Amino acid sequence: MIELKGIAAASGISIGPAYKIGKEELVIEREPIKEQDIPIQIQLFEESLIKTRREIIELQKRIGLEMGQEEAEIFDAHLLVLEDRMLIEEVISRLKKEKVNVAYIFSGVLKKYIDVFSKIEDEYLKERIADINDVGKRILRHLLGKEKKSLGDLKEKVIVVAHDLSPSDTAAMHKQLVSAFVTDIGGKTSHTAIMAKSLEIPAVVGVEEATVKIKPSDLLIVDGNKGIVIIDPDEKTLQIYGQEEERLKGIAQRFLSVKDAPAATIDGRTIDIYANIEFPDEVPSVKLHGAMGIGLYRTEFFYMNRKDLPLEEEHYQAYKYVAEEMKPYSVIIRTLDLGGDKFLSQFEIPSEMQPFLGWRAIRFCLARPDIFKLQLRAILRASVHGNLKLMYPMISGIEELEQANRILEEAKEELRNKGIPFNNDIPVGAMIEVPSAAMTADILAKQADFFSIGTNDLIQYSLAVDRVNEKVAYLYEPAHPAVLRLIKNIIDAAHNAHIKVGMCGEMAGEPSFALMLLGLGLDEFSMPPQVIPELKYIIRCVTFKQAQEIAHQALMLSTGREVEEFSHAKLNEVLK
Ligand code: PEP
Ligand code: MG
Repeated sequence: MIELKGIAAASGISIGPAYKIGKEELVIEREPIKEQDIPIQIQLFEESLIKTRREIIELQKRIGLEMGQEEAEIFDAHLLVLEDRMLIEEVISRLKKEKVNVAYIFSGVLKKYIDVFSKIEDEYLKERIADINDVGKRILRHLLGKEKKSLGDLKEKVIVVAHDLSPSDTAAMHKQLVSAFVTDIGGKTSHTAIMAKSLEIPAVVGVEEATVKIKPSDLLIVDGNKGIVIIDPDEKTLQIYGQEEERLKGIAQRFLSVKDAPAATIDGRTIDIYANIEFPDEVPSVKLHGAMGIGLYRTEFFYMNRKDLPLEEEHYQAYKYVAEEMKPYSVIIRTLDLGGDKFLSQFEIPSEMQPFLGWRAIRFCLARPDIFKLQLRAILRASVHGNLKLMYPMISGIEELEQANRILEEAKEELRNKGIPFNNDIPVGAMIEVPSAAMTADILAKQADFFSIGTNDLIQYSLAVDRVNEKVAYLYEPAHPAVLRLIKNIIDAAHNAHIKVGMCGEMAGEPSFALMLLGLGLDEFSMPPQVIPELKYIIRCVTFKQAQEIAHQALMLSTGREVEEFSHAKLNEVLK
């Protein structure tokens, strides 16, 4: 039994077999062959082409059913590569001439093709490189007798172990048989971790050398509450964790008993508890957990795992669905927040030294009004179907807010000219997640209908701690006095301007900070749906006065750790 320590990224406990996925490294040795083996090698090559073809057609069928015909057509280009006579004949003629194994010959021909294509100044051909690479790898895998690991092919529940998972990998796990995941790198608020919460599966990230220490099919316990991974647990540990799983289920049941009750303090202050979502099909879970609306609909996942850009109609249909389903509750749609750790293949974004400080979110949208306006038009069109609000991410100062609003006005004008109905008074908010915005919240409040505090970014920017880097994760302190002062400043500025202020960063769903945030005057909390019952339960256990006193005392402490310990102790007192 080995215990590995990492960062608790999504709560819960899972026990099951490991399933390792990693950067694929196919080792291809050069092996001379005899004259009489040439036909066998040619046959192996032909069979590999047939198997690859079958594999792609199956994948195409599945994608067609799950995601639609257009997505499935991407694979037509892959099938064309398989039929390329020039490539096939070159492999066979070199095999006969050089008399070495076909895998070696094929990988050489593949490399030559890729080199040639890379040098041609033609965007279309450049894009084909990815197709050739992808198909080439599939063929090589068959030549070497290696199975391609695909999350879509899973037959039993597994725990995925990987060096890293991109948000699009995690998005692909959606609805698959993944019961938990473990990664070598990453932080608590990396988007991969956030996705795990929305999938309601436990995750531990930043486990150094997890992929080295864990062997395929090892039995694992993933403790997403403590950030622990146990390899090959003994009987006693399995029993303890089995009991812990049961205990947690019991607690969850206690919280669920208040899920439909209002989130009101004993002395009658009512708070709005909202849910964060990434996909429209999370709406049933949002309702099930008793959310009073959606406080953050992250729309960038729309753009993932596809090669083209979503059309205005697709945006519209998704927003309309969520608006109608959640009616009369409100839904806050956040406009595209790409960049940082969310890279999208459709956009040619140059790689940057500091992606979180670079061309992301509203900065990208203001530079690409075509993409931005298309989304704004879709939100506006959907606004007649429910109670929609919109908000901009990463606002750093008033000019950006004004510029974004000008583009919104243009979008409105275009719809007006076409006679398309929309809610002209749709509330427009600013996310406050950059320290400059937090410090100038009074100025921003004059031009915003509401604020939503994005603590995931606000913490990383104010403490200068990369949110996805496990090496500095110990410095990522939500309760750092600097962060608390910024939050207080934002809430006070909003209230002075008579606008509401919510929080949609992960901090809003941390039970131990609930009382302090309530006491600071936060009006709305938005969090992953499954934590909502617990937060409601906590809020219903105190008076607003008690919470204000807790906030007051917390603000006088000197370190993040002190605040954390203090808040934790207060929560335990209240829940006793
Ligand atoms: C945040 O920064 O707190 C936030 C909610 O946005 P995201 O996590 O998507 O950057
Ligand atoms: Mg953010």
